[in-house]
Amino acid sequence: MARYSRRCDNLRKRIAKTEANSLLVTNSVNVTYLTGFTGDDSYLLLMEDSAVLISDRRYTIQLREECPELDLYIRAPGTTMHEETAKVLRKCQIRQLGVEANSMSLGLRSKLSLAAPKVDFIETYGLVEELRILKDQGEIARIRSACRQASRAFDVVRSLLTPAMTEKQIAAELEYRARLFGASGLSFPPIVAVGPRAALPHATPTNIRISSSPFVLIDWGACDGLYRSDLTRVLVTGKLPPKLRRIHRIVLEAQREAIRAIRPGVTCQAVDQVARDIISKAGYGKQFGHGLGHGIGLEIHEAPWLANNQQVELRPGMVVTVEPGIYFPGWGGVRIEDDILVTRSGYEVLTDVPVELEECVVA
Ligand code: ZN
Ligand code: ZN
Repeated sequence: MARYSRRCDNLRKRIAKTEANSLLVTNSVNVTYLTGFTGDDSYLLLMEDSAVLISDRRYTIQLREECPELDLYIRAPGTTMHEETAKVLRKCQIRQLGVEANSMSLGLRSKLSLAAPKVDFIETYGLVEELRILKDQGEIARIRSACRQASRAFDVVRSLLTPAMTEKQIAAELEYRARLFGASGLSFPPIVAVGPRAALPHATPTNIRISSSPFVLIDWGACDGLYRSDLTRVLVTGKLPPKLRRIHRIVLEAQREAIRAIRPGVTCQAVDQVARDIISKAGYGKQFGHGLGHGIGLEIHEAPWLANNQQVELRPGMVVTVEPGIYFPGWGGVRIEDDILVTRSGYEVLTDVPVELEECVVA
């Protein structure tokens, strides 16, 4: 498969700039990105002109389907991963082994050094993640489709909502509708947070009815294949409180202006700053306690990070969320989130869900 060999070649160029001459990829998302294999508990050993996937017998059939061209080392039941990996390292005469320091556990590292005493372990950081930051056409098509599935599912759920529904029921409806539109599921357990619970950026749905407060915050996304979308809206479920209207207007302005600032060459920090300035000028800087957004792709949170310490420059092919928020403990919060593709000339908004409060009233 051309896509995977191209990714592996790009990674080889990056490995060549380190002291290592091979890389043991232990992060399973990175293994999937480089090979197409979607199983678990498997490592990819990438060398200068070859690669081998170390896996076990549970996956023999799946491996044949998902990555038929890859060289495999299938370990037998009763063997341990570190000992078998050490065997492969010996067989391939690996001396300078790059390892993914953010993924390899301390336990694996020490067991592997005991089993392969001649190998030098060289810590590397983000080699694959920095490739994943730029999406190719196939990946963009998947994310676009995940955005469409999430948008459509929400439209249907919004038209079905009644004040008697609970947070949990809404979460279940969202997943069901997303699947009917072709999603493989939701991209994370959705947040459906009524009133004061909306102040918790990661609230889990409960049996509270949405009528118990004048508004509900919903943060959800769909998965198309392995690629994810991520959105947030606030729905009005009672008499519109003036404070909600005021806060919502500020968050929406911050979001729109930040999105307008997106184009190649602008730093992630600068985009974050646009939203942060608007919210701070309105007097709520302290109530916006998180970064402006994050990359999406195989993972729901991945590089790049739109935050005030990130000097990374945006480039065409990056896909990020833009999600400013203002939160008050005991009252609730407003966050508005959409997914944006960085294009050569600027940006494209991939998500399409009404955002004005007037359009978000539950009858
Ligand atoms: Zn979200
Ligand atoms: Zn998000």
